[in-house]
Amino acid sequence: MKLTDARAIAAGVASRRHSAREVTGASIKAAQAAASLNLFTELFESAALAAADDIDARIARGEVLPLAGVPVAVKDNLCTGPDLHEPGDGRGYGGRTTCASRMLETYRSPYTATTVQRLIDAGAVIIGKTNMDEFGMGSSTERSIFGPSRNPWDSARVCGGSSGGSAGAVAAGICALAMGSDTGGSIRQPASHCGAVGVKPTYGRASRYGLVAYASSLDQVGVLGASVSDAATALEVFCGADDHDLTVSSTQVPAWGIECEQAIDGLRLAVPRQARSPGNDARVTAIFEETVRALAKAGAVIVDVDLPSLDDAVAAYYIIAPAEASSNLARYDGIRYGRRAVSADGGIDSLYERSRSEALGEEVQRRIMLGTYVLSAGYYDAYYATALKVRRRILADFNRVLGGGCHAVLMPCAPGPAFGIGAKTDDALAMYLEDAYTVAVNLAGLPAACVPAGLAREGGIMLPVGVQFIGAAFDETSVLRAARQWELVRGELPVAAGAAST
Ligand code: GLN
Repeated sequence: MKLTDARAIAAGVASRRHSAREVTGASIKAAQAAASLNLFTELFESAALAAADDIDARIARGEVLPLAGVPVAVKDNLCTGPDLHEPGDGRGYGGRTTCASRMLETYRSPYTATTVQRLIDAGAVIIGKTNMDEFGMGSSTERSIFGPSRNPWDSARVCGGSSGGSAGAVAAGICALAMGSDTGGSIRQPASHCGAVGVKPTYGRASRYGLVAYASSLDQVGVLGASVSDAATALEVFCGADDHDLTVSSTQVPAWGIECEQAIDGLRLAVPRQARSPGNDARVTAIFEETVRALAKAGAVIVDVDLPSLDDAVAAYYIIAPAEASSNLARYDGIRYGRRAVSADGGIDSLYERSRSEALGEEVQRRIMLGTYVLSAGYYDAYYATALKVRRRILADFNRVLGGGCHAVLMPCAPGPAFGIGAKTDDALAMYLEDAYTVAVNLAGLPAACVPAGLAREGGIMLPVGVQFIGAAFDETSVLRAARQWELVRGELPVAAGAAST
């Protein structure tokens, strides 16, 4: 049984070729065997098995569950409440929701995120919570109180981030699907570094209820999987209107699981000049050019375009995201949420200050200070208001290209393959530049999918490199179809050296 094929697992559980308990047991065993990669913040061993038994019982009663018995890992910034696993015996268990922060180290959410709940309602079994950069702030999954996650292709390298644990869990063959969040690339960049498919839907497509807020105008829940079809199937289940989040559009969610299989006749792909930055690693350039060539050979029309505003995307993002973060993270004051400083003398201000200084990591503090600065009265216009103008230009640039007959924009996901653990932790700017190809998509609120494109040789090691397809708002269908077409043109890729062999 392959743990990396969600639809085959669900079909097998539905037809009782294998039980949800067998699949869940194998997934947990694979996670335990890969413990040294540090992909999980917590594994739900017994609760997940009890939930699997419940699925088996429901299948035996004739229930139809599209994700029957599919093991899913959940990023640790998605709330999992005590109702998460509620098998017949009433022993509910949802673990902690830590955001990999000292601040929330012991936090137990009283409720479950809508997107996670919808997967459970469809028969999925949540096997555990995955490691991440603290509050989603980072591109490597090194800034975690649990320590760095390690890449299944080379354990000396990062998984990317911030959904690095989720990407690593898929790449290591532990589970077919993993939930993530993408504020500036946190699904797509780790997908690229780990050789997984990662999809970020349109802003307003998926509920953020139960997603711990980082930068609310950019945050979006999405999914990682081993194939486009599996990711599309999961998206179809968890996207769509939610009474708990009124920013979600009531636009109909298409049957993406099936729709993505339908090739686009006369596929037109826009390749921006900015995709070919001289700053890219030569192997990324080679794999990107090969992708363009192979798609053109398979009949796609490649349109060269210019998206000049992309050059300013990183600068604008690192003003807007910290600005919103500084406001969102104000709630962690040691009073209502999170860890309170043990001894605080001198009143309430000192209690706030000490609690926040002790429990928030260096990068999170840097973002709060940056954000507070760019929103302050004297600098608001110079920084924040200017960044908002850039944001509008980015959207206008994408709309011009996507409204002009192209189905998707094709770009690399990251300027290089996975880098070594520790290589960028002392250089904030180098880390921010990891996001050169991803943040513009969030600033514009568009849907995008990262798909593995090839392998870069690094000494005796192979490292995956992905490309991304970016679509018009609410046109995930074109993104998924183009991504699936590329998967078929590309053919099978080998799996990670550290992957489970079940
Ligand atoms: N690397 C980006 C940041 O640090 C994006 C993170 C994310 O998407 N959560 O903000």
